[in-house]
Amino acid sequence: MVGVKGQAVLPVVLRGIGFLQMKDLSKANRALARPTAGVWMRCAMDGCVDMAEIDAGLAGLARAAAVAADSAHAPFSRFRVGAALLLDDGSIVTGANYESASYGLTMCAERVAVFRANMEGARELVRAVAVIGKSAEGGPGDPVMPCGACRQILAELAAACGRPDMPVVCADARLRRVRLTTVAELLPHPFTGGV
Ligand SMILES: [Zn+2]
Repeated sequence: MVGVKGQAVLPVVLRGIGFLQMKDLSKANRALARPTAGVWMRCAMDGCVDMAEIDAGLAGLARAAAVAADSAHAPFSRFRVGAALLLDDGSIVTGANYESASYGLTMCAERVAVFRANMEGARELVRAVAVIGKSAEGGPGDPVMPCGACRQILAELAAACGRPDMPVVCADARLRRVRLTTVAELLPHPFTGGV
């Protein structure tokens, strides 16, 4: 039996998009499933939308990330990643991944961008994030997603900016398909150090 509160919500939604017919749900569970069924349906497909569907400012930010990716130092993976942060004044801070022969020392594009923004006094002035990945093969690939470590850093950045729902645009190499999400969605329960 599926409940209607707390951790039972997700199973209700999953059933709402196909595992069960909506009509089979109780009235209370139908009310829960309906508002999120569309979102989950898109996730079930591939979670991506066309670049043309998103805000022009975010699309421009993704293009800036794509330019940044060309500055990546990625001789080992040959997977170049670019990140771009949109600041309150409309300016953009970028970063690219930097790999080391001692693999564990490698730094991701997102963190390079955040550290750079901090050095420019803009740690609390970020409005949005874009990330793009370019594989060595040159294929479009899937929109690249921030790794777990970067999600933590982005969560702390978003908190510092007072924007836990800061938008994050993750794009494929050809800037055609994007996954539009938020920092809060990427890491709903970040480490806070007890603060
Ligand atoms: Zn990362």
